[in-house]
Amino acid sequence: MVYEKNQLLTVEITDMTTDGEGIGKIDGYPFFVKDTVIGDLARIRVTRVKKNYAYGRLEKLLSQSPFRVEAKCPFHRQCGGCQIQAMSYEQQLQFKESKVKNNLIRIGGFAPEFLSTVMEPIVGMEAPFHYRNKALYPIGQDKEGNPVAGFYAGRTHSIIANTDCSLGVPENKEILEIILSYMKENHVAAYDETARKGLVRHVLIRKGFQSGEIMTCLVINMKPEKDNGKKNIDYLPNQQKLVEALSKVKGMTSISVSINRENTNVVMGKEIHTIWGKDSIKDTIYIRNAEDNFAATGQGITFSISPLSFYQVNPVQTEKLYSLALSYAGLTGKETVWDLYCGIGTISLFLAAKAGQVYGVEIIPQAIWDAKRNAVRNGIENAQFFVGNTEEVFPEKYEKDGIRADVVVVDPPRKGCDGACLEAMLKMGPERIVYVSCDSATLARDLRVLCDGGYEIKRVRAVDMFPMTVHIETIVALSRIK
Ligand code: SAH
Repeated sequence: MVYEKNQLLTVEITDMTTDGEGIGKIDGYPFFVKDTVIGDLARIRVTRVKKNYAYGRLEKLLSQSPFRVEAKCPFHRQCGGCQIQAMSYEQQLQFKESKVKNNLIRIGGFAPEFLSTVMEPIVGMEAPFHYRNKALYPIGQDKEGNPVAGFYAGRTHSIIANTDCSLGVPENKEILEIILSYMKENHVAAYDETARKGLVRHVLIRKGFQSGEIMTCLVINMKPEKDNGKKNIDYLPNQQKLVEALSKVKGMTSISVSINRENTNVVMGKEIHTIWGKDSIKDTIYIRNAEDNFAATGQGITFSISPLSFYQVNPVQTEKLYSLALSYAGLTGKETVWDLYCGIGTISLFLAAKAGQVYGVEIIPQAIWDAKRNAVRNGIENAQFFVGNTEEVFPEKYEKDGIRADVVVVDPPRKGCDGACLEAMLKMGPERIVYVSCDSATLARDLRVLCDGGYEIKRVRAVDMFPMTVHIETIVALSRIK
């Protein structure tokens, strides 16, 4: 059968791509259909035909999947941030767990029976909404010229108004509404990318879930000419009015502006000025006992977060993920541990609580400054940090300075570990390797290399850091075969 564009067909959705598109097959030939859920019977219109597969658009749901739920957010289809919000949370977890398992089988070449013996149940959230501690809203104008905050529609740069994203904290709405009415009353224009005119580009809001402290940063397009005589410069028209209203929001700790005059997709400008309160907010991540259902231990690490610092966006799940990393590392207090791709040292500082000595490597200098400051702030003396490429720094410290590791922890970006980094690990031969991954496809590829090089997988667990989206974190413990 040859299919044609615009043809109407009926398919049953039986599977899902890793991006959350439904897959329905007719005589083994797959159709990818957005906005469908496994178990749907769908009337689709064919939109694109390829040799081995085709794309279709959902025209009508003939019968609904039992896994369908009413999406909380009315904009979830347009926004695209929550690809699987219309699927029950239980089903989301199952979908993610099999995504990890299938990648380990298909790309890693591990046997399904073996994986069943090492995979532990996925770690989900009890309350899978409002989990994000950071929100970044673009500001624009509606047709009447009123300022709006929301999200970009599809791949365009036009903004659909919505101040109430269901993944964010309730304060986001309150803060955005204050900013929008201030803009309206004081005739402050939103930035227009095409005309390169207007003032307010984005609003960044961050909240410390433990501390309750909130930060608001307005990304603006201009800065006033410095007046030497004046000490307190206003960055915004009638700035005091905005500050007065925002500072009344419960928890507000820091209000700042970020100057960004560039015509790029980079949101934040490097220049930050605090206009009220502190320069940063604090938050604490607690170590939990991963072997006892994540029971609290009372021990925590406190972080200072400024508008530009990196910080994990789901603090509830971060505690679980990093406590698992600590547990998988199997530390007794004597070990030398390397934390590769360490970011601001969150995992390193967790590990330092139980290790002899921790070394962290990260490519971004500012992140290492943060890591060092956070170590000092928490009185941690057995953690040392290096700026540089993991694949260069890690082997060099071993070969030149003889720094070996008993345990190596890696948490690379989506593309996984560099070949040279894997090679260096195999050469050094630590007892254990803990691999934290945000992409199970590259994870599977790298695990194959490590297992062919003399390691075996001991434990695997998926942790849902991003409910309602297709993303999933995975953590793996490997041990050197004696
Ligand atoms: N564990 C960290 C986050 C890791 S995200 C935390 O919890 O904070 C991956 C990190 O790897 C990013 O900070 C990125 O800047 C860094 N990175 C990417 N490529 C790198 C490389 N080749 N060498 C060292 N670090 C790298």
